[in-house]
Amino acid sequence: MRKKVIVVVGARPQFIKAAVVSKALADHSALEEIIVHTGQHFDDNMSRVFFEQMGIPQPRHNLAIGGGSHGQNTGRMIEALEGVILAEQPAAVLVYGDTDSTLAGAIATSKLNIPLAHVEAGLRSFNRRMPEEINRVLTDHVSDLLFAPSESAVANLHSEGVAPPKIKLVGDVMFDAVQAFTEVAKRESTILADLALAPKSYALVTIHRKENTDDDARLSAFIEGLSQSPFPIVLPLHPRTRKRIADHGLTFPAHFSLIDPVGYLDMMALESSAAVIATDSGGVQKEAYFHGVPCITLRDETEWVELVDIGANVLVGADKVALSNAFTQTRTAEPVAKRDIYGDGSSSRQIAAGLLEYLS
Ligand code: UDP
Repeated sequence: MRKKVIVVVGARPQFIKAAVVSKALADHSALEEIIVHTGQHFDDNMSRVFFEQMGIPQPRHNLAIGGGSHGQNTGRMIEALEGVILAEQPAAVLVYGDTDSTLAGAIATSKLNIPLAHVEAGLRSFNRRMPEEINRVLTDHVSDLLFAPSESAVANLHSEGVAPPKIKLVGDVMFDAVQAFTEVAKRESTILADLALAPKSYALVTIHRKENTDDDARLSAFIEGLSQSPFPIVLPLHPRTRKRIADHGLTFPAHFSLIDPVGYLDMMALESSAAVIATDSGGVQKEAYFHGVPCITLRDETEWVELVDIGANVLVGADKVALSNAFTQTRTAEPVAKRDIYGDGSSSRQIAAGLLEYLS
């Protein structure tokens, strides 16, 4: 009999990770993947477009839970996921990353004594004010199989006392996704032409972390610092950021193009042709490196510390002077040589094989 694996997704970065892992799971006839969508991200351009463009199988269960506070969402998700797990009786549950959907999946699964696998285990910002950090720490400590993307993530788990046999260093699934979709994006995306952008003539910016959007002083500092950019700015707006900007009547200089969130193929096209990327996104920091584009990180710390160590990423915090200086620095800096710090693009295959081995 095939072994059922429930995969919990709910937010944009999880769809992207699931796209490549789902294909790898499908290569094993002994495994049956059952996708559960919590509904955390529900807009078409934050959810449906990824399922369509990236060929992700349709979720068997849609929980339609979103729009509430962290506590409300997580609580409702735990209850609903418990029901799904009891009904499906899976051999294991797999969760991705660090969102409320991740934590809800982790709690529901571990309380039912079902094996739990966590993809992107061991990442730490060491900033417990971030909801994502709480989700990561708690999920890792109830997981049975921890798929870590980097050596620093493995070291974090060791120092927190996680039993070494549970930890597998597999590299980063987002590298697999970039490898699988960059060429497709070059062929199919028309976004550069649509926005009349010449390659290497613009800065791509994303801001969506709660610590940035919900703090007026930080958000204003970013807008001021970004105003000093030598390049016009393309800013696909996360719904949370758009709401904040509207609620607070924030205005942007003329060289900012505020656009709706884009699908993955358009994002690959925008990233790979950008002169520089400025972001508070975890995924976008790594994608900048994969595309060989310099990255300025709009946060006080990062989980992807290797990128700062090798000079691919500059951390500026909410400091408008540091941000403005970083634009000058990245303009003159030598391109960072590529290194395989996040694996060789076989992460998703290693995860599927690791899961099957664990269940056999
Ligand atoms: N992304 C996208 N369209 C956008 C903005 C981001 O496809 O308009 C992709 C991006 O390429 C990356 C992922 O979404 O793969 C990052 O998600 P997000 O920044 O929401 O979350 P984080 O990585 O910070 O958890």
